[in-house]
Amino acid sequence: MKTERLYYNDPYLLEFDANVLDAKPVGDRIGVVLDRTAFYPTSGGQPNDLGTINDVALVDCIEDEPTGTVVHVLQGRISGDRVHGRVDPARRNDHMQQHSGQHVLSQAFVELFNWPTISFHLGVVACTIDLPVDSVSREQATKAEDLANRIVQENRPVAVRYLAQEQLADAGLRKPTERTGDVRVIDISAYDRSACGGTHVRMTGEIGPILITRIERSKKQARVEFICGNRVVRYAKEANRALEAISQTISSPPLETASAVRTLWDEHQQMRKRLEDLESELLDHEAAQFPVKDGIAAA
Ligand SMILES: [Zn+2]
Repeated sequence: MKTERLYYNDPYLLEFDANVLDAKPVGDRIGVVLDRTAFYPTSGGQPNDLGTINDVALVDCIEDEPTGTVVHVLQGRISGDRVHGRVDPARRNDHMQQHSGQHVLSQAFVELFNWPTISFHLGVVACTIDLPVDSVSREQATKAEDLANRIVQENRPVAVRYLAQEQLADAGLRKPTERTGDVRVIDISAYDRSACGGTHVRMTGEIGPILITRIERSKKQARVEFICGNRVVRYAKEANRALEAISQTISSPPLETASAVRTLWDEHQQMRKRLEDLESELLDHEAAQFPVKDGIAAA
């Protein structure tokens, strides 16, 4: 029996009751299979949810593809056939913001430059998308970031639809899917349609700001690192504190510190070169005072 995925139709559901179908060892822990679950298992670039089942901490949540079940790996044992699950709300909300933001940003690169996203990874600190190009300039990244933030501010509805295979050809999906049977499609109103099994927000405004933090090249691909929502707010606070500290140290307004540090660095390099020249001159001077004859100092 497959596990019913409650998060498919209600990603805001954080508590649920379920029946235990199976319990089996996973490493040195116990993995519990339920008839229904609100916990998202690691898949499609999105990490698993955490939380508790009957107040016992969930340490991992795994998709068992051959059986279509979700295995809940618990820190300890639970008793009884009926359980109550609680999803960690902060982690769920964070993943919804990052993953929905990824749909918006990926489509921005398609609309502006026709670059499809090859892969996506949601990390603990930042998320990445890989694009099939040698490089992405800061200017191009900024254009995509601006379009993505406009879609967020327009607060567009995000709907979940189920399409039959014969409907897929005309569905206008951003990327073809290899999924069989009915396909779950995430539809951002008049903007993007993607086959996806993850957890997403219901309105784009809930994603919050989207910020590209880094661009790097890797094996004929460009990797764009980004953060969304509360992560951007935390980042802005930390970056502001760092700027304030630099600003006080070098007595320059925070937003002018980059050019001020550049000037200081150039001066530092010139001073170092001058010091090296002076040391060299000093050595020459000392050598002239104490001439060496046959490898022995004459003085
Ligand atoms: Zn998704």
